[in-house]
Amino acid sequence: KTVCVTGASGFIASWLVKLLLHRGYTVKASVRDPADPKKTEHLRSLEGASERLHLVKANLLEDGSFDSAIDGCVGVFHTASPFYHDTTDPQAELLDPAVKGTLNVLNSCSKTSTVKRVIVTSSVAAVAYNERPRGSDVIVDETWFSNADFCEQNKSWYVLSKTLAEEAAWKFAKDHDIDLVTINPAMVIGPLLQPTLNTSSEAILNLINGSSTFPNMTFGWVDVRDVCEAHILAYEVPSATGRYCLVERVLHYSNLAKIIKELYPSIQVADKPADDKPLAPDFQVSKEKVKGLGLTYTPLEESIKVTIESLKEKGFVN
Ligand code: NDP
Repeated sequence: KTVCVTGASGFIASWLVKLLLHRGYTVKASVRDPADPKKTEHLRSLEGASERLHLVKANLLEDGSFDSAIDGCVGVFHTASPFYHDTTDPQAELLDPAVKGTLNVLNSCSKTSTVKRVIVTSSVAAVAYNERPRGSDVIVDETWFSNADFCEQNKSWYVLSKTLAEEAAWKFAKDHDIDLVTINPAMVIGPLLQPTLNTSSEAILNLINGSSTFPNMTFGWVDVRDVCEAHILAYEVPSATGRYCLVERVLHYSNLAKIIKELYPSIQVADKPADDKPLAPDFQVSKEKVKGLGLTYTPLEESIKVTIESLKEKGFVN
């Protein structure tokens, strides 16, 4: 039972590798630089790694780069994609690695006869970013698609990268008869295995690291361990199909800050929005479809707590 995880040193992928090893899989894990201890040491020290983890060098932007990582695998989990917002060249830094990278990985899959199913880590960013109105009675579900023009108008390059990458993935899968399932998580939090700070963990860190303001935004939130369990279930459950949105709870940053304050009364938590506009509206994300995978969610309070404990332990908290 050999599977491939792309972008294995990342926040989500590290947990995915850990859970796959725990379940007995042999994992071919792609990383950009297998010689960089910051990107690989936490993977090499996972239980089962010395027997069943194989690190393979691959880059999203190099054609054919994933051939050897994917060759001989029964399942492929494509998680690698840049996730950050600060960019001077969105095409080169975000859009190309996301879109061309996804096609590159899928192309390697189409060259083998062993791959049974491909799981692509998409995002709620590819689902909910459009001009449809929001409100507490609005339920976002898997039938929604983000609007690429709307992303571009708002210069939301990361969101655009995920939207275009998922679109490209579905088209390629249809044309090449690949069994594709996408996992579309909201903001992912939880314990960090990797030594570096990733964007969604930073969203929590920013609330407790001295800033008095929080973004005036409402997002869905979900635990990294549940996200990885969902990836594995999407591979293992024969009836899994299409897209799966993953959200434990939708919360404005103000309510997230409130939960942190209740959990940690002595920590200084950001307590006002970063702008004077009305608070961003609420919405819901459907939990119906994911029930078919048999996933149960970790309560968000627990996820927030372990995130903060982990950020402290890794030395990120002032
Ligand atoms: P990380 O930043 O921790 O991981 C991103 C990974 O992508 C890293 O391993 C990085 O490699 C790899 N990568 C980036 N560019 C390239 C490239 N050119 N070639 C090869 N690998 C590359 O992010 P997350 O773990 O948070 O994100 C993983 C996936 O989950 C992404 O697809 C992201 O869009 C998606 N996602 C994340 C959410 C979140 O809240 N965290 C929410 C929804 C979706 P390296 O380590 O070498 O830099």
